[in-house]
Amino acid sequence: MDEALGPPPAMAEKAEELTPMLSQYLELCERYDDALVLFQVGDFYETFCSAAEATARVLEITLTQREDSTGTYPMAGIPIDSAESYIETLLEAGYRVAVADQVQAPEETSGLVDRAVTRVVTPGTLTETELLEDADNNFVACLTEGYGLALLDVSTGDFYATRLDRLDAVADELERFDPAEAVVGPDAPTEPFASGCMVTPYERSAFDLENAREKVEAYFGTTSLASDAEMRACGALLAYAEYARGGTTDGDIEQLDYLNHLTRYDPREYMLLDAVALRSLEVFEPRHVHGLEGAALVETLDETASALGGRELRDWVRRPLLDTDRIEARLDAVEALVGAVGERERAGELLADVYDLERLVAGVSRGRADARDLRALESTLSVVPDLRDCIAEVTDDSEKLAAIHDRLDDCPEVRDLIDRAIAESPPVEITEGGVIREGYDETLDDLRATEREGKAWIDDLETEERERTGIDSLSVGHNSVHGYYIEVTNPNLDSVPDDYTRRQTLKNSERFYTPELKEREEEIINAETRADDREYDLFREVRRDVAEATERIQETARAVAELDALCSLATVAAQYDYCRPEVGADGRESSSASRPSSDAAASDGIDIEGGRHPVVERTEEAFVPNPTDLPRERPMAVITGPNMSGKSTYMRQVALICVLGQLGSFVPAERAALPVVDRVFTRVGASDDIAGGRSTFMVEMTELAAILEDADENSLVVLDEVGRGTSTADGYAIAQAATEFLHDEVGAYTLFATHHHELTGVAADLPRARNYHFSAEREAGGVSFEHDLRTGAATASYGVEVAETAGVPAPVVQRAEALLDDEIADAEVTQSPATASTDGGELPEALLAELRAVDLADTTPLEALNLLSRLQKRVE
Ligand code: ADP
Ligand code: MG
Repeated sequence: MDEALGPPPAMAEKAEELTPMLSQYLELCERYDDALVLFQVGDFYETFCSAAEATARVLEITLTQREDSTGTYPMAGIPIDSAESYIETLLEAGYRVAVADQVQAPEETSGLVDRAVTRVVTPGTLTETELLEDADNNFVACLTEGYGLALLDVSTGDFYATRLDRLDAVADELERFDPAEAVVGPDAPTEPFASGCMVTPYERSAFDLENAREKVEAYFGTTSLASDAEMRACGALLAYAEYARGGTTDGDIEQLDYLNHLTRYDPREYMLLDAVALRSLEVFEPRHVHGLEGAALVETLDETASALGGRELRDWVRRPLLDTDRIEARLDAVEALVGAVGERERAGELLADVYDLERLVAGVSRGRADARDLRALESTLSVVPDLRDCIAEVTDDSEKLAAIHDRLDDCPEVRDLIDRAIAESPPVEITEGGVIREGYDETLDDLRATEREGKAWIDDLETEERERTGIDSLSVGHNSVHGYYIEVTNPNLDSVPDDYTRRQTLKNSERFYTPELKEREEEIINAETRADDREYDLFREVRRDVAEATERIQETARAVAELDALCSLATVAAQYDYCRPEVGADGRESSSASRPSSDAAASDGIDIEGGRHPVVERTEEAFVPNPTDLPRERPMAVITGPNMSGKSTYMRQVALICVLGQLGSFVPAERAALPVVDRVFTRVGASDDIAGGRSTFMVEMTELAAILEDADENSLVVLDEVGRGTSTADGYAIAQAATEFLHDEVGAYTLFATHHHELTGVAADLPRARNYHFSAEREAGGVSFEHDLRTGAATASYGVEVAETAGVPAPVVQRAEALLDDEIADAEVTQSPATASTDGGELPEALLAELRAVDLADTTPLEALNLLSRLQKRVE
């Protein structure tokens, strides 16, 4: 791919001899050496040499040649009219595209037309709305050494900065934001980026601290960031955005003023859903199970009416809150909207008429918006007063809605200006007239009047000339080459008066003009071009004036986005019978700190009645609700049950209910009291992780080690069949050791599903754990599942029952049952020493000595596991 970029050697070799046009091409290739240069020649964008070969191959278009005195060059071109879809294909193939337009009209020069790169299209800096997903952001990321991370959506102006403390955390952030492209600084890692993300290492001066600070201050004013790494990332990213917007030679470059709001955040202010959790809980993307595609959490929540709201909702889901005040504020708003059915429906209708304000205003600020965009902006702003009236009814019940109400500014002067200046249904082209309304500008109106009068005179000309000459078939017409003419058929040529001058000869007729016609024609053309130019100037003036209001419009856009997201949550809550959760209830009045109180007693733990899985309940006709009771003092549940009984679904449901509650949504349950969870860990056992294709025991253990290392008492840990990736004995030992460690040391809210039936024996002996099981009923023709969670361990082994139902002879079934009883009995025997260890006294002195010698402060979880396993072996 690389040889398609940069100056083609065949041209570089004879740079001195090239024709002026090709040497212009060569120069642009040198300047934009990491992009494919599309070079405007008339109605086409051309590429040459190896770039042409690559373009022809990727776009499946014909490779031609250009020949001149200096040589023959491969050439491939695409018509400008359909360039966008070709550019999209080039992006998909992994190219950046530098669009070099003619920035001078050919008639303005006798020599070479000026060309300049007017934009560099890259996957992460797209602003062409037709290439973008409406309801999703399109981020470009910038990562530096020391893990400064900046993220920018050029199409909307959303700009985030943070600093992470380690590589894993970088990968987790990237999973949430899912950037399409990344620029990485010197010595920054490239491995945390997903495969679909275009990554370019830059050794550029943009990463120098002083340059970066200057850039950041130019956009955001004096800004304090938590670290130099962040400053470098933000500065370099702004420089990259400037690079991507291109620039024309006449100084008419895109303004990026709408990048005026930097959101600096600390990932620790939000519930951390790491990459693995996002995937296994199917938050954004459904997993493919047995080739079937389900739905993702975010889809089940998305009843937003506008693209703005869709993006806002995704941001909330990406970053559930920890601050109970903020959570309560959203919940209050959702509750108010759930109750206000009429207002919510009305707001929904109004929001459906909202265009993508953020992208519109970004386009206005960049000088790329056309007249239709301004009209769309006006029509969106015109909805705002109604929206404000509509929610005025519910502001008493929610401070957040009251604040949104006050932030909704319809910017009347902007509306008035657009309404007065811009035609009601203007053309897309802004240079060819028809965009400015009559009555807005006197000069323009005069020019248009001259044009109209001239045309009216010409309209009357036919009648007048017929009378004057007596030729009934005489006609007046116009064509683009010859202009206006009077046409007379051959039999009537004798009657043509003297003041007619021949303009064109056709087969059956002649075309003429008169001095007066010519004069009128010039007048019309003159007025028309001047009017078009005037309109273009006026239009740009209006656009600049509208751009003055960028910040106000952006603020309104943010308020609209929040309102739409809240309405969406309320609609889902009402439609699917969700309830308002109590989140971190006890901690609420004691502190408004953003971190959950480390005082464990601050919350009563997870207490859910009639909980449902928000996604599965939509497709499962008879979804069975289940309770969850994990009080702070007994935060662990070990769940057993046969395959297909509902273990995995249940555990995810609990995690998703916590996620929903903390993002400020109602939850699918009859009643729910939830703690503030700072992090959700999920590990799905190797054999269950079919889609992930990560089936080695090593991966599973690495992930388990990370949980044991990072989880704390405010975490929620979901372990689904961990320990399956190895022989039963090992797997069981590890499962047991991990359970004990989580129980004794970590104290996290833990849901542990296992088919290791023996593990229930372990849980029975742990004071802060409880056994649960899903049962199955034997029925004629098979086993049926009730999906009904019960306390206690599962007793039956359904494998044997299934065998019996299937017609395996009775003696075999009986022998299997006997064997199974022995095994369970054995398992219980091996556990008794472990049990004894909790009350001490009965262990051999040597073991006790070894235990005492362990320096817990200096022991990693993995070492602890190893130690446990050694101890266990010796006990056995
Ligand atoms: P396990 O992890 O025990 O093998 P799963 O959680 O994968 O079981 O669930 C198996 C199937 O049962 C799923 O296809 C799901 O649709 C269905 N299911 C799970 N829980 C329920 C429930 N509470 N009510 C109704 N159907 C359920
Ligand atoms: Mg399962």
